[in-house]
Parts: sequence; C-alpha cells; structure tokens
Amino acid sequence: MNYFYANAANEPVGPISEEQLHELYRNRTITLDTFVVVEEGSEWKAYRSITKIPIPPPTPAVVPIPTPPVVAAQNQPSMATQKCPFCAEFISSDAKKCKHCGETIDVALRAAEEAKRGNSNQPMVFMNAGGGAAALAGNGQGQIIGIKSRMVAALLAIFLGGIGAHKFYLGRTLWGLIYLVFCWTGIPAILGILEGITYLLSSDRSFALKYG
Ligand SMILES: [Zn+2]
Repeated sequence: MNYFYANAANEPVGPISEEQLHELYRNRTITLDTFVVVEEGSEWKAYRSITKIPIPPPTPAVVPIPTPPVVAAQNQPSMATQKCPFCAEFISSDAKKCKHCGETIDVALRAAEEAKRGNSNQPMVFMNAGGGAAALAGNGQGQIIGIKSRMVAALLAIFLGGIGAHKFYLGRTLWGLIYLVFCWTGIPAILGILEGITYLLSSDRSFALKYG
C-alpha cells in the first residue's frame, strides 16, 4: 500500500511505500501530525493513525555535545608569554613585574607606583636650627638640595667674611652683627675663611640640613 503525505506547503507528495513513510518520520521530514492519504483513497488522516506498528522515535537531531570546561587549565599558570617592553625578555603574559629587569608591567600597578613616586617629589619643609623654614626638595634618592647655595655662602665667607656677609646670607643675623662690629680686629675675616673652607668641604645634604 502506497501513500501520499502533505508537505510543509500542504501539497501531496508521493506515492511512497509505508516503509518510506516511516523512514520520513524517522528522519523528521514528517511528524505524527502530518496528514497522509492512501494512494487510491481520499481521506487524509494523521500519520499516527495509519501506522499499526510501533513507531520508532525519530532520530534525535544532532545536538552539539557541550564540552566540559577544562578545569585543570584554570589552575595551571598560563603558558602565554609577552615581551617585556623594557628589556625585551619573554615573560608570562600574567606577569605584573618583569622577572628579568624588575620593571612593573601591569598598567594599574605602574600608575600606582608612579603616583607614589610623584608624591615623594613634593618639597618637604624642614625647620632648621636657626628657626627658619627651608624648603628641601628630595628627588627620590634621598638627596636634599637646600635653598641657600653652599657655594655662595663659601665665597661670601672667604671674601666678605670679615664683615659677616655669609652670616647675614645664612640668616644668622646676630652673628653677622658681631662679625661686623669686630671686623677691625681682623679675626672675623680669618674665621670667615675657615668657615668658607668648611662649607666647601661639607656635602650639599649636610649643608642643607644645617643651614637650609
Ligand atoms: Zn624586563
């Protein structure tokens, strides 16, 4: 016995054998509700009503099998590498600091470090022994440069020390007046030369800490 079946456009297709009809059901061309009719008949019936044999289930559509996430890989260090922009050595792409040159690769971390470094460049205000405030600028390596020039103080002490010029320059006004009062003795001039040499021999840092 042959059949026609109604396709999606509701047009009769056939004739085909009953076995071919079942095959169409198995490959999902037709469903249990598809209308079929016997070749010589005129009564359209649902496919489910004409079959006497147990209808085999349609073959399942090809469902992609979800691949299980690779858990192990998450715990392993990434094998991806990047080139250090500072020394051009290859390092892990997860690296925040270069293991070769020690530079910080991570952008956020680097910005934070530079912000911290920037803060240390702010001038630090010290109260020196004379009571005057001296702004001392640190450049991050612990070097301190004072406002008063060590060289100017030394030259004043050596050439104009007899009238206490270096004392006035360094803010030691009382001492400057004493030098000035005793300038006629020549002693302040000798002291000035000695002090000038002392200034020349001291470091910028110790000079700045002492005189600002
Ligand atoms: Zn590096």
